[in-house]
Amino acid sequence: MEYDVGFVGLGYVGLSTAVCFSNRRMKVLGIEIDTNKISQIRKAKTPIHEKDMSELLKKAIDKNNLVVSSDYNELQKTRIIFLTVGTPSNKNGSIDVRYIRQATKEIAKIIKSIDEYFLIVVKSTVVPGTSNNIIKKDLEKYSNKKLGKHFGIIANPEFLQEGKAIHDTFYPDRLVIGADSKNELTMIKNLYKKFYRQLPPVIETSLVNAELIKYSNNSFLATKISFMNYIARIAEEIPGADVNDIKNALGLDKRISDSFLNAGLGFGGSCFPKDVRALIAFSESVRVESDILKSVMRINNTQFLQIISLLRNKLGTINNKKISILGLSFKPNTDDIREATSIKIIEKLLKHGARVTVYDPIAIPNIKQIFGTSIKYTKNARSCLKSSECCLLVTEWEEFKKLNNDDITKLMKNPLIIDGRRLFSKNHFKKPVEYYAIGLG
Ligand code: NAD
Repeated sequence: MEYDVGFVGLGYVGLSTAVCFSNRRMKVLGIEIDTNKISQIRKAKTPIHEKDMSELLKKAIDKNNLVVSSDYNELQKTRIIFLTVGTPSNKNGSIDVRYIRQATKEIAKIIKSIDEYFLIVVKSTVVPGTSNNIIKKDLEKYSNKKLGKHFGIIANPEFLQEGKAIHDTFYPDRLVIGADSKNELTMIKNLYKKFYRQLPPVIETSLVNAELIKYSNNSFLATKISFMNYIARIAEEIPGADVNDIKNALGLDKRISDSFLNAGLGFGGSCFPKDVRALIAFSESVRVESDILKSVMRINNTQFLQIISLLRNKLGTINNKKISILGLSFKPNTDDIREATSIKIIEKLLKHGARVTVYDPIAIPNIKQIFGTSIKYTKNARSCLKSSECCLLVTEWEEFKKLNNDDITKLMKNPLIIDGRRLFSKNHFKKPVEYYAIGLG
């Protein structure tokens, strides 16, 4: 077979996984409908910002281990196809399976055209039942072939984090493999053995369980974040209280663990908000109340207002005042601004007449597409602070840690910092700098 494996959809998940596979003894095919992306990738230029991606992509393209195309017919040259297209939210929170169905229909035509067994691996995040009720049905309908006899389906959800996508693909905590038959399990495990040599822990389960595991995982992490933001709100009302001390104590309790306990401005990005909304919609479709996740979303949707009210308490009116924003991406080490808190904050500030100046190490081109000329963009943190009356720290990029008292007092008109991500320790700045933060009473 010309390719060990094919990927349909070369976004954060598809491209990262394809690049990792093609750097570990495999011939990989990538199919993508966005022809701009295809021509970029062919030139070994990464369309996304991910650590180590540029070097690995270049190696893969130079050695011809990764071939990309927008022609689905190329899939005739592989028998294992990963589905890695997006699954965005519908208005009511349920997942939009449009891209899944478009891709599935094209894959079905390939299955129809060749008399051999294909394995379809669903890596996209889909609600329980999607593999069986939508993907299987469409594959059978458009190929005129049968699940089990001519093709198999695996649910293999992805847990990588943007900014660490390459690392997480090479060193996952575990693989979740959902299959309804042994033959499919053996095929996918053989592929992963070739990739990892020594397999990470594998959870072998059913299709529906694998699908539900992904939503449970993300919803649980989102719940931890909203819980800590709730505690942060309480701490802000108590003079002398500090959510960070509470986080440190909770984090040492092994039953809780210290990850995802940082209070801040809430979660954003392309996964947590959409996955929590999807689980709420799904649970209601099976008549299970989802009060817990509705509260998680309510806290998250209003958390950015904490920084706005801190700002207004300190400055009074913000009309015509220059406000600097440090950090725009939804988290550090990525240029992804999907559902980023910075967007909600900028919109609110503009609504109140503030003059907004922003800086981010890599996300400015993406933010420009939303705000155009209505805000000012700067080339570094220091120029962002010039003549400003307040600095809001919105994304915790490491480089911001270098800012010191001198920078703030010399550059800003009014030396006021509001730290939305607890990047600085509370003693980092001294008078005359005024420092306020989420979760600090
Ligand atoms: P993305 O939007 O970055 O990429 C999806 C890609 O698929 C795009 O490049 C799009 O052009 C392409 N595409 C759409 N329809 C296509 C079709 N019919 N044929 C070929 N290509 C097509 O999405 P992503 O962030 O990579 O997420 C993909 C899936 O993985 C989603 O279900 C998401 O929830 C899940 N996931 C994402 C992450 C993450 O951190 N981004 C982590 C874990 C799981």
